[in-house]
Amino acid sequence: MRVYDHPEFEHHQQIVFGSDEASGLHAIIAIHDTRRGPALGGLRIYPYASEDDALTDVLRLSRGMTYKSALADLPLGGGKAVIIADPRRDKTPAMLRAMGRLVESLGGRYITAEDSGSGEEDMRLIRQETRHVSGLSRGDDSGDPSPFTAHGVFCALKSAVRHRFGRDGLEGLRVAIQGVGHVGAHLARELHEAGANLVLTDVDRDSLGMLVEELGAQSVAPEAIFEAEVDVFSPCAMGAVLTAQVADRLRAKVICGAANNQLATPDVAALLHDRGILYAPDYVANAGGVIEVEAQRHDRYDRDAVMRHVERITATMDEILTRARIEDRNPAEIADQLARERLAI
Ligand code: NAD
Repeated sequence: MRVYDHPEFEHHQQIVFGSDEASGLHAIIAIHDTRRGPALGGLRIYPYASEDDALTDVLRLSRGMTYKSALADLPLGGGKAVIIADPRRDKTPAMLRAMGRLVESLGGRYITAEDSGSGEEDMRLIRQETRHVSGLSRGDDSGDPSPFTAHGVFCALKSAVRHRFGRDGLEGLRVAIQGVGHVGAHLARELHEAGANLVLTDVDRDSLGMLVEELGAQSVAPEAIFEAEVDVFSPCAMGAVLTAQVADRLRAKVICGAANNQLATPDVAALLHDRGILYAPDYVANAGGVIEVEAQRHDRYDRDAVMRHVERITATMDEILTRARIEDRNPAEIADQLARERLAI
């Protein structure tokens, strides 16, 4: 396994491989950068085909967290953790407590939270071994970050629409949303409220059907979403959805959604730019979740203040898209550059 010359290594500060024989834990914690604060990032539990796949994923995700938190103006660095296991079959309380001890061994340099494959119940088990956990509701109105993520995407989408189409309101704007789970459903409701016309898809036909009825939206089969005649495409399902092939098929002129790591490969950003499609960088648009998770770490939780912080995504997106236009470069490149500038403090 290559580590220091791994294509995604990018000067990670620390990579910890943890194992626990009794519970069968095999985990990797990657700490990319702690210059702005402790490295916060979720714990992904996934049955990776190989250790190499797990390492690649954790390195990409932890660097993404550094950039996301820097551009969201949070006093946090970037990190991420993965457990190589099937969350439905292999996850046990003993494994999660062993993970908690691994997190604790880093003395607060890494703070864990929920991600795909891990939920609030798992965080409570980890919490038995370490206090370096966020994302636990505390009985007030904190807890589920998805409405905050959705609102941040809504702000980013409005900024992108203003830059691409020169219009402020969303009345009559056609938006296709791929995935109407936690974030996608909240986003759909906000867009509907603002007067947008929605085309929705999801592999889960039941939740899709209910939302389509509630919002009077159009629904299409999952594969047909890329060809929908819309102004905006909003990926809110899974990562790596923007391939070169998808870039060719899309009719939308703006892409703005919640999914992490939307670009299948970095060169797709240039393809989209050449086709006149404005891509709103994912980690800028979807930072509402980490803004809320960070707020939960503090004694006083003020929901309105968290929302105001989320709404600052508008100004950040405006700055990126203005620079992209002036320099005729793609917004993904500009966002990375801006994040690196903020880190050089
Ligand atoms: P979720 O699991 O609740 O929703 C995802 C939805 O996408 C599900 O309804 C699923 O059925 C659907 N889906 C899966 N594959 C699909 C396909 N091929 N075509 C159409 N639909 C498909 O997840 P979520 O919390 O809403 O998060 C959505 C995305 O946003 C994820 O990529 C997540 O990593 C990212 N994200 C979420 C948050 C958050 O606060 N929840 C924060 C930042 C980023």
